[in-house]
Amino acid sequence: MAEKIKMTTPLVEMDGDEMTRILWQMIKDELLLPYIDLKTEYYDLGLEHRNETNDQVTVDSAEATKKYGVAVKCATITPNAARMSEYHLKEMWKSPNGTIRAILDGTVFRAPILIKGIVPYVKNWTKPITIARHAYGDVYKNTEIKVPGKGKAELVYTAEDGTEVRELIHNFSGAGIIQGIHNTEESISSFARACFNYAIDTRQDLWFATKDTISKKYDHTFKDIFQEIYDSEYKEKFEQLGIEYFYTLIDDAVARVIRSEGGFIWACKNYDGDVMSDMVATAYGDLSMMTSVLVSPSGVYEYEAAHGTVQRHYYKHLKGEETSTNSIATIFAWTGALRKRGELDGIRELEEFADKLEKACIKTVEDGKMTKSLSLISTCEDPVILNSLDFIKAIRETFDTM
Ligand code: NAP
Ligand code: MG
Repeated sequence: MAEKIKMTTPLVEMDGDEMTRILWQMIKDELLLPYIDLKTEYYDLGLEHRNETNDQVTVDSAEATKKYGVAVKCATITPNAARMSEYHLKEMWKSPNGTIRAILDGTVFRAPILIKGIVPYVKNWTKPITIARHAYGDVYKNTEIKVPGKGKAELVYTAEDGTEVRELIHNFSGAGIIQGIHNTEESISSFARACFNYAIDTRQDLWFATKDTISKKYDHTFKDIFQEIYDSEYKEKFEQLGIEYFYTLIDDAVARVIRSEGGFIWACKNYDGDVMSDMVATAYGDLSMMTSVLVSPSGVYEYEAAHGTVQRHYYKHLKGEETSTNSIATIFAWTGALRKRGELDGIRELEEFADKLEKACIKTVEDGKMTKSLSLISTCEDPVILNSLDFIKAIRETFDTM
């Protein structure tokens, strides 16, 4: 066998939970360790270890990502009431992705992996749509009050010198609810720059949409910041490359996206991005074929699959039943991170390895070997349905023959 590829800087490796934790180990054993002298700094973000460390491990892994520049993350459980008792948790720990995003203040780009034989539900989507989700603030950093009854709700800002600005929210005549949300010019600006840079990197148009006609200050500020940064920093480069920045209202954007052929980046506010990325992923065929990368304004990258820990499959696995879980998006998280590490450290072999492993994944499915959920939507005549491990082994076989 050829000599293993050497790495210089470690990848930050964030292990996770349930079925994806099982796939994680299989991917390393079958597809990475035989070919690469894998250098990682390992953080166990599995829920048990997060609980043991009072979630310090999540913060440490994000800090390490800042230090080294590239991380690869396995899907993790976001605890809810059921998980509290299942894992005997000390606290309902926050979503690790939320914690990591808050520390890195980045933008999440999600793009589907397109494969021949898997036709999107939206027939005219012949190119991938990349969703860029703003990863800071709004409803994800909200403050809420359940209003018990009659009373006045106000929005109050107190400046450092003590001066106040007040706006009436509502005079309640009975019970109700209120919510306070915020964002910062700094975060919105870095979101805008991340999107413009990614559009230039990938030579794609950039679309952005908000509800500025209704939210005349909040959403309008997003629109204005994007336009100012575009005009002063990016307009010329976009024109040279023949790509476009396009702003419209969110409802108009949704309609246009459905009619489009794809091939652009759709920048979304935090909540729109959360919702629309699942819609787009599903319409392209399968949640398990969506890649995700968090890009911070300082140029730090964290790669992951967009799907969760596939809990239902894990419970089958625990009962000793066979699973057919698709590992492609998790493999692409590794290849994305390895390619970026190669790019930053000038290791061509690592970049080539990543390209080749991605091609091997696609070729394996196009040759008719796939996991169950892909076989249900594939136009392939007689697909060979493989279990979780055999699918990874089939990818390795394809890889070795390429
Ligand atoms: P999920 O893990 O994405 O799975 C939902 C369903 O989608 C699965 O039951 C499965 O359908 C299908 N699916 C997803 N990925 C698949 C794959 N790779 N191969 C085959 N089928 C796949 O979402 P969830 O069940 O709502 O969440 C489970 C846990 O994941 C939760 O604790 C949640 O907090 C966490 N989560 C983590 C992240 C993250 O870390 N980024 C993101 C989302 C959710 P069938 O059962 O029909 O086969
Ligand atoms: Mg979501």
